[in-house]
Amino acid sequence: MMNPFCWGLLLLLGVLACQGSESPANEAPLSSHKTVDSSTATALATTAQTPPPIDTSITLSYLMGQFDPAKDERFVEVKAPYGDRGGLFLRREVYQQLVAMADSARAAGVQLVVRSATRNFKRQKAIWEAKWTGARLVDGQDLSKTLPDPLARARKILEWSSMPGSSRHHWGTDLDLNAFENDYFESGRGLREYEWLLANAPRFGFCQTYSPKGPQRPVGYNEEKWHWSYLPLSQALTEQAELRLRNEDISGFKGAETAPDIDIVRNYVLGINPECKRD
Ligand SMILES: [Zn+2]
Repeated sequence: MMNPFCWGLLLLLGVLACQGSESPANEAPLSSHKTVDSSTATALATTAQTPPPIDTSITLSYLMGQFDPAKDERFVEVKAPYGDRGGLFLRREVYQQLVAMADSARAAGVQLVVRSATRNFKRQKAIWEAKWTGARLVDGQDLSKTLPDPLARARKILEWSSMPGSSRHHWGTDLDLNAFENDYFESGRGLREYEWLLANAPRFGFCQTYSPKGPQRPVGYNEEKWHWSYLPLSQALTEQAELRLRNEDISGFKGAETAPDIDIVRNYVLGINPECKRD
């Protein structure tokens, strides 16, 4: 005797034989239903798809840096000699691995110092708007005068700086080491540091987020040899950003109206070294 649930399914599919009633019918593998025609099978496959893996422990406000890391217990302050000053914060797990990596580097004669770590929305807004208004020069220029077109101005700032709400520095998983110029890492001491990082950072979970622009990474910020991301935490955050962050969410600062035209999420938030993404 079939139960009512099976009868319902039978009506829905017309020809489907409902075998047993102990497990929910929607868990039965499609392959067991040999008589389902292809259009029905397609419809079933669509409805049976796993829902997007939204991780509710990761909030949109966290992804967008709307918090104070100094008051968030997931974060710890970077201590000397690992940071160049006080007030630098990282997620606890990231800091532990950073310390392990820096100690290993020091044993090899290489010094690694955090120059920038977590920057929340408020901090990133101050950086962005200083460049937007011309209070801070970019390549020696007051962009409010040399680039009055908002899209052109935003794209110029985006060579090196994120829009508030879209920065990986919000997450506490990403940090800048030693110097903010690629030139520094191309000879002498800087080159030795960079070569050590390329060879060893992956052992500690770190990846160079902004690898050289090219076929492998056609969009996004310029290369940054100093910016490293702790993958065991940041990969999940990147996935959640891809699922849930929309261009329209990137707002609340001067020039934010350009975010949709720039397609800020796809081209910048997700425009990272493919090796830093989950397979
Ligand atoms: Zn950075």
